[in-house]
Amino acid sequence: MNVLVLNCGSSSLKFQLVETDEEKARSGSDRTLAKGLIESIGGTAVIKYEPAGRKAYKETAEILEHQIAVDRSLALLSHPELGVVKDRKEIAAVGHRVVHGGERFTSSVKIDDAVLEGIEDCFDMAPLHTPPNVKGYRAARAVLPDIPHVAVFDTSFHQTMPVHAYLYGLPYVLYQRYGLRRYGFHGTSHRFVSRRLAELLGRRHDDADLRLITCHLGNGCSVAAIKGGRSIDTSMGFTPLEGLVMGTRCGDLDPAALLHVMGREELGLSEMNAMLNKHAGLLGISGVSNDMRALLEAEAGGNERAKAAIDVFCYRLRKYIASYVGALGGVDAVAFAGGIGENAPGIRQRATQGLDAMGLALDPARNDQLRGTEGEISPAGAAARMFVVPTNEELLIARDTFCIVSGLPPF
Ligand code: ADP
Repeated sequence: MNVLVLNCGSSSLKFQLVETDEEKARSGSDRTLAKGLIESIGGTAVIKYEPAGRKAYKETAEILEHQIAVDRSLALLSHPELGVVKDRKEIAAVGHRVVHGGERFTSSVKIDDAVLEGIEDCFDMAPLHTPPNVKGYRAARAVLPDIPHVAVFDTSFHQTMPVHAYLYGLPYVLYQRYGLRRYGFHGTSHRFVSRRLAELLGRRHDDADLRLITCHLGNGCSVAAIKGGRSIDTSMGFTPLEGLVMGTRCGDLDPAALLHVMGREELGLSEMNAMLNKHAGLLGISGVSNDMRALLEAEAGGNERAKAAIDVFCYRLRKYIASYVGALGGVDAVAFAGGIGENAPGIRQRATQGLDAMGLALDPARNDQLRGTEGEISPAGAAARMFVVPTNEELLIARDTFCIVSGLPPF
């Protein structure tokens, strides 16, 4: 089955056409036929498109709204020369990434009017992210009205967290009134990586005593503790700001520090929001970049603030991994994923220093060799093992969509 995977942001559209079915998903032989990215929707947009195994294509065009972006991506996928299908009729279903599903959505779901209403009820909790997801859905539904559309949520994997992991130390009425609690994000990545990690260990992912820690380290970063295939804790919270230090997001901090700055600088809500989301994290500390590659280069050139930013990043990650060993009552394996987790051996090494006290040792030679590919980075015979597991959120969205459309339980 060909599944179109859409990830719609406020001014961008990522799309992938994935060929998957039960056998392909089980054997891991499902594949991306083509992928693309349309950026700067609302004006002169940049369109990048890559049919698998063929030359990438790039153009600029006036794309004033998401509807036109969706039309453009379908035109590329079925283009006589660049396309990978003859006709858009070869697309059997659409899987939509939806950032926030609140407490209502505990798994992926076929979108109908009631589901759409439920998603819209969650707008308040991620006002920048979920409304564009729905915009993308409406645009896709308008041009592909006769095939099923499925919502796959960033939050749903973490809905298994117990109350002691998701409640904040705040007046309970705020939870009741505003749903103020930890939700967690990157759920599709943590689910994908933890399933693959279980396979690499030769275990069933839902073995009740299997204890895994997955680290998704991209521009956004989060860690999850997973027991018996279920998320029991994760570092992102009510929003994706909490937890690790990220490219431009602050991660954990003392809320009173914000009150202090707001008072001193007379900053309002939107300025604070911008500061915490866009000007903090690696960029904020270093003043150099939000990009880990640029920071590693600057550090090698003697830049002290770049070094401080990387040190803070690695130390915070190490504390989270260690605390999740405690939360899980031990650990069988840790996985690193995302642009940093997959490609930066130095970061993996710095973030796991000292964890050998918990049985988590790194094999320096294996670690150094692994860049962008899957493999083990702990020494042979380690009590607790460590792996690089490249993530693939689009593949998981496509598989979930296939399962929902076919009436199968998710893989
Ligand atoms: P996103 O969360 O936007 O999908 P990615 O998963 O692509 O982002 O991760 C982007 C991050 O990965 C950036 O900080 C980038 O510098 C980092 N990264 C990519 N390749 C390397 C590398 N070879 N060494 C260090 N960091 C890398």
